[in-house]
Amino acid sequence: MIPSAFAYHRPESLDEVFRLLAQYGDGAKLLAGGHSLLPAMKLRLAQPQVLIDLGRVRELSGISVEPDGALRLGALTTHHQVTTDATIRRHAPLLSEVAGVIGDMQVRYRGTLGGSIAHADPAADYPAALLALEAEIEVAGPGGGRTIPAGEFFFGPFITALQPDEVVTAVRIPAAAGGDRGWSWGYRYLKMARRASDFALVGVAAAVARDGEGAAAAVRVALNGVTGAAYRASAVEEHLTGRVPTAELLAEAAQRAVEGVDVDGDALTSAEYRAHLARVYTRRALEEAWQRAGGEGAMAAD
Ligand SMILES: Cc1cc2nc3c(=O)[nH]c(=O)nc-3n(C[C@H](O)[C@H](O)[C@H](O)COP(=O)(O)OP(=O)(O)OC[C@H]3O[C@@H](n4cnc5c(N)ncnc54)[C@H](O)[C@@H]3O)c2cc1C
Repeated sequence: MIPSAFAYHRPESLDEVFRLLAQYGDGAKLLAGGHSLLPAMKLRLAQPQVLIDLGRVRELSGISVEPDGALRLGALTTHHQVTTDATIRRHAPLLSEVAGVIGDMQVRYRGTLGGSIAHADPAADYPAALLALEAEIEVAGPGGGRTIPAGEFFFGPFITALQPDEVVTAVRIPAAAGGDRGWSWGYRYLKMARRASDFALVGVAAAVARDGEGAAAAVRVALNGVTGAAYRASAVEEHLTGRVPTAELLAEAAQRAVEGVDVDGDALTSAEYRAHLARVYTRRALEEAWQRAGGEGAMAAD
């Protein structure tokens, strides 16, 4: 399919981007890796008159560690960089693991972190990890910048806190908590997809901190693909926090993965089966995260 005709601009600064957005209004679309927007344009689900290519906007690039230990990733960081860059792998291994299972090699080379977040596909892989890492999304508009906690960014299918004249500029991942208390963190992202390189039917990100007593000092679990937007499974977290995880306790906690959630059923799978997958993948992600945190004896026989 061939998209309808459009004009193309390639600005080099955010100020230029804001000027173009103000000039063309609703007719304009930002272009990053193009791996969600271009398929939509080819299907004529999106028909922008003007594309504003962000690829050369200098303020959107860069991978750095800030003085407080937070990792800051420019919006243009590609999925490939997220999964291979040594700094990202060291400071945010969960995010690297997530990026490695996005689409295929071509998608990972072109697609960007900022583009995926702004697009907010309910089955996209990053949002659960960003919730579990308590990340922040930096955005900028003509009136200045603001920082939005990931937990307040994703509202529903393709709906975010981003305003039409705003651009995602970076993602900030805070340093892991509890280093001064001897906590050791383990992370795991598990995704169930029908075929290799598909979007998730269910994706679970788990981050668990083990304290010196062998208890789960902090537990963060988030899911995507289950309902309109990624969410924190707070019932699972509450069930485990402060307790010594055994295989039975983890399995019990995972049963609560969709508590209070309106699980989607669609042409790919029923709501009942998706809920079942959510519980099974939550248990497995928790078991493996706990093991990576140095915990023992929490693997159930499958
Ligand atoms: C075959 C295929 C398989 C895929 N599989 C997966 C998968 O398994 N998991 C997964 O998570 N994703 C998957 N994707 C989607 C992929 O990750 C995209 O790269 C991503 O969703 C969009 O990022 P992009 O940089 O390509 O953005 P684009 O397609 O360029 O833009 C997407 C949207 O975001 C807006 N936008 C882009 N950048 C910004 C910004 N900085 N600020 C504000 N708005 C912005 C654009 O205007 C557009 O509306 C797949 C895509 C394809 C084609």
